[in-house]
Amino acid sequence: MTSTMEGDTIAQRTLAAEFRIFGKGAHTGQPVCVTVYPGEPDTGICFLRSDQPPSRGLILARWSNVVSAQYSADIGNHAGVSVRMVEHLLAALRLAAVDNALVVLNGPEVPALDGSAAQFLAQIERTGTVAQDAPARTIVLLRPVELREGDRYVRLSPSLNPRLTVTIDYPGTPLGMQSIATAWDRDLLKREIAPARTFGFIGDHTELMKRGHALGADLGNTVVVDGEHIRNPDGLRFPDEFVRHKVLDAIGDLYLAGWPIRANYEGFKPGHALNLKLLSKLMGQQSDAWVLVPSRDVKRSPCGARAALLPASV
Ligand SMILES: [Zn+2]
Repeated sequence: MTSTMEGDTIAQRTLAAEFRIFGKGAHTGQPVCVTVYPGEPDTGICFLRSDQPPSRGLILARWSNVVSAQYSADIGNHAGVSVRMVEHLLAALRLAAVDNALVVLNGPEVPALDGSAAQFLAQIERTGTVAQDAPARTIVLLRPVELREGDRYVRLSPSLNPRLTVTIDYPGTPLGMQSIATAWDRDLLKREIAPARTFGFIGDHTELMKRGHALGADLGNTVVVDGEHIRNPDGLRFPDEFVRHKVLDAIGDLYLAGWPIRANYEGFKPGHALNLKLLSKLMGQQSDAWVLVPSRDVKRSPCGARAALLPASV
């Protein structure tokens, strides 16, 4: 069950122990403590609000529990209890191949930390993961599923060597048009995508705050674009950090399927709302477009990590 030989079924994994992180939410600005515990086999990723009565606080990280996708992926339950901004932690768990975990937090939002998945991932890797006595499963696409809104689209399609391809276009800003195409290689994605931070435009901030968003956003957790300039004293982590962050968001959003999805992902001007509508379409309406199969180890792409991360042709 725990063999990782080529072609063999692999086991579900969880954390070897719990870890704890303190921070503040980018939207609420509230301080929050998150403890991520090992999860039982076949339970997936679950969130538990410890500041709520135990019967009301549990929320499964599933597409069907999404309550808002306007600024972040927010999930909630029938008791009206919600957790905002789950996507970066989910991306870290996905990249670390964690199938089961219980995320306990004492507030309404996952801490933003540095605005990326890097610190969550570092904590998971320090803690370690262990195989469990249950087979891991993966969603495999049988046909493409696409969602379009105007000129924007997101698309999942079958592939033996899945890739993530994203293009963003912010005319008149330092971002401009950026594209990236990367192999679905966890080591590569941990290194090149997980540290990419969320971003925001200074001109939007006042309006967002009036509506109760981005109250905790600052230069420590957001790349702040001010006209032609980046406000953060240390600048960018990558010249194309913005489009890399959109890849990270897609990885986190898509883990709300409940299992890893093995498919090509393409996004043209994507966002949480488009990703989560696509996921809802795939999982809810087009369940004949995929099958859930035992996960198997797949031989690495022969092109290697260096060639695997290329600018996409626009
Ligand atoms: Zn994000």
